[in-house]
Amino acid sequence: MTDRIRDFLRLRRPEGPCLVVDLDVVRENYNTFSRALPDSRVFYAVKANPEPEVLKLLAGLGSSFDCASVAEIDMALAAGATPDRISYGNTIKKERDVAAAFARGIRLFAVDCREEVEKIARAAPGAQVFARILCAGDGAEWPLSRKFGCEPALAVEVLEHAHRLGLEAIGVSFHVGSQQPNTEAWDGALKSAANIFRTLSERGIQLRMVNLGGGFPARYLKKVPLVKAYGRAISGALRKHFGNRLPETIIEPGRGMVGDAGVIKAEVVLISKKADEDDTRWVYLDIGKFGGLAETMDEAIRYPIRTERDGDDKAPCIIAGPTCDSADVLYEKHPYPLPVSLSIGDEVLIEGTGAYTQTYSAVAFNGFPPLKAYVI
Ligand SMILES: *Cc1c(COP(=O)(O)O)cnc(C)c1O
Repeated sequence: MTDRIRDFLRLRRPEGPCLVVDLDVVRENYNTFSRALPDSRVFYAVKANPEPEVLKLLAGLGSSFDCASVAEIDMALAAGATPDRISYGNTIKKERDVAAAFARGIRLFAVDCREEVEKIARAAPGAQVFARILCAGDGAEWPLSRKFGCEPALAVEVLEHAHRLGLEAIGVSFHVGSQQPNTEAWDGALKSAANIFRTLSERGIQLRMVNLGGGFPARYLKKVPLVKAYGRAISGALRKHFGNRLPETIIEPGRGMVGDAGVIKAEVVLISKKADEDDTRWVYLDIGKFGGLAETMDEAIRYPIRTERDGDDKAPCIIAGPTCDSADVLYEKHPYPLPVSLSIGDEVLIEGTGAYTQTYSAVAFNGFPPLKAYVI
């Protein structure tokens, strides 16, 4: 919560649930990343929050952009980024979208298989590609599973295939899992990356770039290490595995860039019990999984929730959204302590919601409009 967001909500009193994003926090976070990893280029992961003002601010600060679709590429271009500051980082692309990106001047593409390399060789001849390797994502609160990346041994073949087809094989990428609280999580993947560099060097292909991905945390309820600590751990791991032949590096923060810049204002619609003798109250808000809080799936992300009665005694509650879908329950396995004095009609502030909220909200499920955002 920042004074600017507090003042905005007090003065503007926006109706309905809404997200308020403070650009001062985004600017501060960008500068923190630049300082913590001064030799890395920052490619902001657009999907975390693609609000035009956020992209424009970052473009002005010198950020580059990691995009997953042609629409995101167009947003980054509209914000003022030049094509050389945009990567098409999705490993799953239609060939015609690769062609559309190439026509816009994009020259940097992610791949994790030979089939994708072949699309790029046809639709973006001569472009630069990096191979994404699998990363277990252990310890991450929002792990990214096996959907993206390939085994390091296959990455070697994929990059050699790219080279053979006239593409420029430039490096390796990975993602250690989103909201990764372990600063050492990059070590194993950097070891694999260094091995890939070595193997390909023996085959006459000199890689030069490692894309360190995202994973840098936002502050939710649990304490997380400072970005500085991630910088130190990553620099150490780079030196350990690459010695004095350090590659160029890029980072792709999404959550860590915008997560703590946003606050959602919501309202208590109903507080009830399932039986008079129950201890646990159900608290229904006017926002739920379909209104932007999709990352509460499996109760993965646990947001700080503030009320005006936080000084009062608290008791565990089950928190749910307003829709008629029984999946729309936010916290039940681990009930959430809220003030016993909390009442219907009270406002609640859900903090750390600048990333992965608004774009996750459904267009009109049950007639609820998508989450409105104000960028200040
Ligand atoms: C989503 C994504 C990111 C951002 O991840 P965070 O954990 O939010 O920092 C970075 N890189 C790629 C390829 C992604 O898909």
